[in-house]
Amino acid sequence: MVVIMQEGATAEQVAQVVARVEEAGASAHVSSGERVTVIGVIGDREDLTALPLEAMPGVERVVAVLKPYKLVSREFHPADTVIDVRGKMIGGGRFALIAGPCSVETEEQVMESARAVKAAGGHMLRGGAFKPRTSPYAFQGLGEEGLKMLAAARDETGLPIVTEIMDPRDLDVVCRYTDVLQIGARNMQNFLLLAEVGRLDKPVLLKRGLSATIEEWLMAAEYVVKGGNEQVILCERGIRTFETATRNTLDLSAVAAAKLASHLPVVVDPSHATGRRDLVLPLSLAAVAAGADGLIVETHPNPAHALSDGPQSIPTAAFGEYAARVLELARWAGRSVA
Ligand code: PEP
Ligand code: MN
Repeated sequence: MVVIMQEGATAEQVAQVVARVEEAGASAHVSSGERVTVIGVIGDREDLTALPLEAMPGVERVVAVLKPYKLVSREFHPADTVIDVRGKMIGGGRFALIAGPCSVETEEQVMESARAVKAAGGHMLRGGAFKPRTSPYAFQGLGEEGLKMLAAARDETGLPIVTEIMDPRDLDVVCRYTDVLQIGARNMQNFLLLAEVGRLDKPVLLKRGLSATIEEWLMAAEYVVKGGNEQVILCERGIRTFETATRNTLDLSAVAAAKLASHLPVVVDPSHATGRRDLVLPLSLAAVAAGADGLIVETHPNPAHALSDGPQSIPTAAFGEYAARVLELARWAGRSVA
């Protein structure tokens, strides 16, 4: 349930509610907005309904949350969450274009991609050093060597890094370099990994699982936020359907639905959603129109020779034109793209 405090409720009144909730064996998560403080209460439903919280000083009302996710819900936190990634903001009307190669391959490839992203007005650099590949025989990524290449590209361009973490055992090394931890679609329900990143103070980009419902995706985000890390960016990257013309099916309803249900920013990955370079621009525009807070897109200096996902990668030479179209629409739609 959610306890909504009156405007002007004192810190002491908030503390009294928290103490009462904790006495009952439940946990309280306080969210202080500009005008109103909201307390998310998690615990046994029956015990909680018996608590006379509504009668306590400073309490405006108590609302039962029927959905299984609480901390990530709009009821708990009505205002959009805005995440600050080294000064680049995402959420609450601030739009972020994240781009780069699928995999980090060489220093030149990453640097060339980063320069193209920067020159095009992109906000962050993506690139995988630990790659989740369907085949164990496919390129698995460069590991720490790749992370160093990303860091060198950040040093030159100032673009924060987004890179995937697959295994909790790699957290130390990945955190040493990255600004945003990407949890891939295949790991969306790796609950141990979710709990681990939930303990950190680092933004997490959480991809929707290949066959996950919106509710399962939000429950995965709940794991991270429950651990204390509220900096979660949701990412819709296409889901499995019967359709074979595209690699996956981009679920644009999920973007609008997740934004209604949750305060977390939602970005779209049109590259993995379609698997086709020629569909990346139209679906990027559609994602912006549907309310996405950002895009994460693959670009490569030479897609024909990419070690992964070449067919869906925009050549860096064409990235400026792509970004101009996307950012123009984002501005027109009232997003800030600074
Ligand atoms: C990726 O971003 O390169 C990736 C592997 O994405 P996903 O987890 O969405 O398949
Ligand atoms: Mn990829």
